[in-house]
Amino acid sequence: MSRSRPMIAGLALSSAATLLAIHGAASAGATQPSTQQAQGGNVASAGAAVVGEGRPAVVSARIIGRSVKDNPIRAYELGDPNAAVTVVALGSMHGNETGGQVVLGDLRDGNPVKGVHLWVIPRDNPDGVFRDQRHNANGVDLNRNFPTNWKPLTGWYYSGPKPSSEPETRALKAFLNEIDPDYVVTFHSPLYGVDVYGAKDRPFARRLAKELQLPIKEFDCAGVCHGTLTQWFNANHAGACVTVEFSSSPTQRYLHVRAPRGLVRAIGGHF
Ligand SMILES: [Zn+2]
Repeated sequence: MSRSRPMIAGLALSSAATLLAIHGAASAGATQPSTQQAQGGNVASAGAAVVGEGRPAVVSARIIGRSVKDNPIRAYELGDPNAAVTVVALGSMHGNETGGQVVLGDLRDGNPVKGVHLWVIPRDNPDGVFRDQRHNANGVDLNRNFPTNWKPLTGWYYSGPKPSSEPETRALKAFLNEIDPDYVVTFHSPLYGVDVYGAKDRPFARRLAKELQLPIKEFDCAGVCHGTLTQWFNANHAGACVTVEFSSSPTQRYLHVRAPRGLVRAIGGHF
């Protein structure tokens, strides 16, 4: 594979993409619910508007569901839909962990991705992002609300009144069931590492660690590993889901340049 050329091209692109991306990330983060609702009233027109707004990387866009406060959860299709490998990358399941949202927003707003089929959902938990809080608007930790190994948890890890009680959880499940990707990458922070606790595909986790410049670690969900997205996906799909934890304060260069490029390389794509 001619890796050197895409990397050089990516470098040239990245400085321009950085400015674009900072714009995109800032507007994504600052968008108010009312604007989101106005934009999200019609799935078809919202998708068409996004594709038509100068985002050459976006093949298609759709709203996969709505949050408790009726904000849309948007998925963007990038890359080659006919590629051998399909990946779904998720950011901001915890609304106060926005590194993934920046990385995936940059990929959405940057140059076309090649060699892989990639769906990005920069913001799984829009209400949490707007409130700068871990939980959704019902106070539920979405990463404890999935039905595999679900248990009633209270406090910081409040898992909801029952499995899949939250609309955000149901939207993600339905989308992942439909797409049935080979890999899911879910971004969190601040534990700084790629999780191989019970890993289904260690080589993929190692590839992510190398390309994202993160250590391999065994996270055990602080002892309360119940009802996580990773557990649910790995138990119900042939593909593998990996949790990636950024540090508490990654640099802008890391989020806007190294991490987007590293993710694409780890999943076998290029620009
Ligand atoms: Zn998290």
